[in-house]
Amino acid sequence: MEQVITHDVLILGTGLAGLRAAVELSIRSGGTIDIGVVSKVQIMRSHSVCAEGGTAAVMRPEEGDSLELHAWDTVKGSDFLADQDVVDKFVRTMPNEIRLLEHWGLPWSRREDGRVMQRPFGGHSFPRACMAADKTGFFEMQALYDRLLKSTNFRRYDEVFATKILLENGRFAGITVMDLPSGGFYTIRAKALLLASGGLGNLYGFTTYSQTVTGDGQAMAYQAGMALEDPEFLQFHPTGLIPSGILMTEGCRGEGGYLRNTAGERFMEKYAAKFMELAPRDIVSRSEMTEILEGRGFEGPDGLDYIHLDMTHLGADRINKRLPLIREVCMKFLGLDPITTPVPIRPVAHYSMGGVEADINGLTKVENIWAAGEVACHSLHGANRLGCNSTAECLAWGGITGEHIAKYMATGPKLANFSEAEAKDEEKRIYDGLLQQKGEENPYKIRKELRTVMDKHAGVYRDGGSMKAGLEKVKGLQERFAHVSVKDKGRIYNSNLMNTLETGNLLELAEVLLTAALAREESRGGHARTDFTTRDDERFLQHTLVNRDASGKPKLSYKPVTLVHWKPVERKY
Ligand SMILES: Cc1cc2nc3c(=O)[nH]c(=O)nc-3n(C[C@H](O)[C@H](O)[C@H](O)COP(=O)(O)OP(=O)(O)OC[C@H]3O[C@@H](n4cnc5c(N)ncnc54)[C@H](O)[C@@H]3O)c2cc1C
Repeated sequence: MEQVITHDVLILGTGLAGLRAAVELSIRSGGTIDIGVVSKVQIMRSHSVCAEGGTAAVMRPEEGDSLELHAWDTVKGSDFLADQDVVDKFVRTMPNEIRLLEHWGLPWSRREDGRVMQRPFGGHSFPRACMAADKTGFFEMQALYDRLLKSTNFRRYDEVFATKILLENGRFAGITVMDLPSGGFYTIRAKALLLASGGLGNLYGFTTYSQTVTGDGQAMAYQAGMALEDPEFLQFHPTGLIPSGILMTEGCRGEGGYLRNTAGERFMEKYAAKFMELAPRDIVSRSEMTEILEGRGFEGPDGLDYIHLDMTHLGADRINKRLPLIREVCMKFLGLDPITTPVPIRPVAHYSMGGVEADINGLTKVENIWAAGEVACHSLHGANRLGCNSTAECLAWGGITGEHIAKYMATGPKLANFSEAEAKDEEKRIYDGLLQQKGEENPYKIRKELRTVMDKHAGVYRDGGSMKAGLEKVKGLQERFAHVSVKDKGRIYNSNLMNTLETGNLLELAEVLLTAALAREESRGGHARTDFTTRDDERFLQHTLVNRDASGKPKLSYKPVTLVHWKPVERKY
């Protein structure tokens, strides 16, 4: 590979958001925009292939669904922190995204009348999760990848790890990357960047996320001076399999699965009598934890006490047709068949509502950097995302950012110059510094300890004292991280080195999350404090922004929420 590579547009990340944007750019430019797509894994190993249950869209207005209802469900689910203009744009965009994927060959599950099957999902008052059995993300990725392969104007950089965003006078100039197979270090320049690098689930030990999901994009943006918005809102999904954390999709409850405590009770009746198991995730996760903390959970390994997800009444036919992956996972990992036996589950770290601050079109505060997918915060999900709204967000803002970047390219922007010295310094930091240093600390041990700290101090229920203690521990781990030693000293496919850089990113994001969470002295959506138990709209109906100050520490500020249709009311389900 050349030392400096140039494209018109660079897309960092090839999950659903990145691929959808690449397809849109390619179509809109008629193949004239030269695109580079960078991923630290092979395209089809991007985390999005794991998405299971479905993608939200209003497809059946004549049967009672409506854009207004989808918008209301999303806003209420967000505990009123979503920006309502963004929600409007989202619900309007989605039906067409589903039809596009249909045209691009996605084999949706079908109803008997041949239409796309949609199942119920938590917090949605109409069955609107478009599904391909319980492998929706895989089929969406495959359809987008197939469509992209029809274009000739893109170059893929698989197994290429981005380390830094380079700016010139506040404009995007390039990124520095490690090419894992060759061990080379390069700069990729472009006139515009789309950040589509996914979430940060590996901040936690008990998580649904792939090992690769380490918040690199959020950390790089933060280090480059961009703000992270609402990072304290981390979603705990109600049904993580014990002890691995593998996701048991909300589709299990969408298909009719029950949650039961040790007495066999469907305890959700106490917490959300109408929606029951299909209340929004923040509410179901809190209810499960309350059952466990009050002694009505089952005793699990390593403190992972649990609840039962009971699908035994659904019947073999329904489970085999609609939840085949779930059955396979339960049988392979636990030797348990959900057709006959309840599944042990508990709340699990699942999704980051926060991310890089971006406007309604995905544009960040840097004039030529956009963000889409889980890395971004367009303020769609507010304090709590509804299930099946994330793959939907990736598709919607993949398309929207693709469109806006194409328009930007039509204005004839110039390449910004990058500082060669800065790129060289980054190479030295990694290869002469981090790789060569002979410290006594093991980076894997630090990552493991960090994840335990986050499980313990920033979980479903939080309080000031515990979060402060967690923050101190994170700072201690940051100090120890300065003395790590990377075991593999070679340059070729050095995954030790990549994992160490990822851990550095996670440490920084942990500090950001805890700092923002400590300052938010209220309970809202996924942020539930035992010392501030109610929502406080007077003080906190606003988005958190976190910037890195000159000394490298998080600095907080706030901005208002956009309310268009609805004022906050009490959430009842
Ligand atoms: C098990 C599971 C099931 C889910 N099911 C659903 C569902 O049914 N419905 C729903 O709406 N949501 C679901 N979600 C959430 C949803 O899958 C994700 O939010 C979404 O897929 C994220 O897509 P993305 O394109 O933003 O990022 P990803 O798919 O994570 O892609 C990120 C890309 O960025 C690249 N990247 C990251 N860092 C770097 C770096 N430093 N250098 C180079 N490349 C980099 C990666 O290689 C990858 O290509 C699920 C989540 C999980 C964990």
